[in-house]
Amino acid sequence: MAKEAPYIVPVRELPAHRRFEVPAALVTDWLRGLPMRDALGAPDPDPQAGGGTAELDLYADGTHVFAAGQLSGHLVVACGRCIGPVRIELDEKLRVTFMPPGQGPVSPGRSPQEEEGAADDGAEVREEDLDTFPFDGERVDLEPMLREQFVLAVPFAPLCREDCKGLCPQCGIDLNTGTCACEKPVDPRLAALKGLKIPP
Ligand SMILES: [Zn+2]
Ligand SMILES: [Zn+2]
Repeated sequence: MAKEAPYIVPVRELPAHRRFEVPAALVTDWLRGLPMRDALGAPDPDPQAGGGTAELDLYADGTHVFAAGQLSGHLVVACGRCIGPVRIELDEKLRVTFMPPGQGPVSPGRSPQEEEGAADDGAEVREEDLDTFPFDGERVDLEPMLREQFVLAVPFAPLCREDCKGLCPQCGIDLNTGTCACEKPVDPRLAALKGLKIPP
């Protein structure tokens, strides 16, 4: 992958509007090892793995960095039945807070007094604070946030279509596109008996 880190933004350059491209090679990296990716048997890096674009407004309040915007893209995983490719679309609103070491979540625009009160009871967690990432106080790295969006978008049981017929459990043919002469799957408890030849 690229030697420089394309998703790192120095805090001194903020506020800024930035556009980040996510190439297929990086999607390959992020999703490597997930069963629904590995099942595809795709090349590595996989030019068809997916990709996307994030448009973000970044600003700092002197302590935290806030990023808000939109991520659109797609990724490709294997159908849980036929292991054919399934394209998953991403269209996510992003709103995250980067916290320096030793800091708790904070909302923009609150006074230090309000901050102290909120920190004590912990009840005032606004929704926009829930997505938080650490940063070193000088530079934010947006890659973990983008990676999380792609990883979370992978469905538990992706289907290429609602009524995917899957693969024949005997010969492995894709029953969506072909037929085979295999008998219907039998109860596994009876499968052992099926191998027995009864002499005429
Ligand atoms: Zn399928
Ligand atoms: Zn078959």
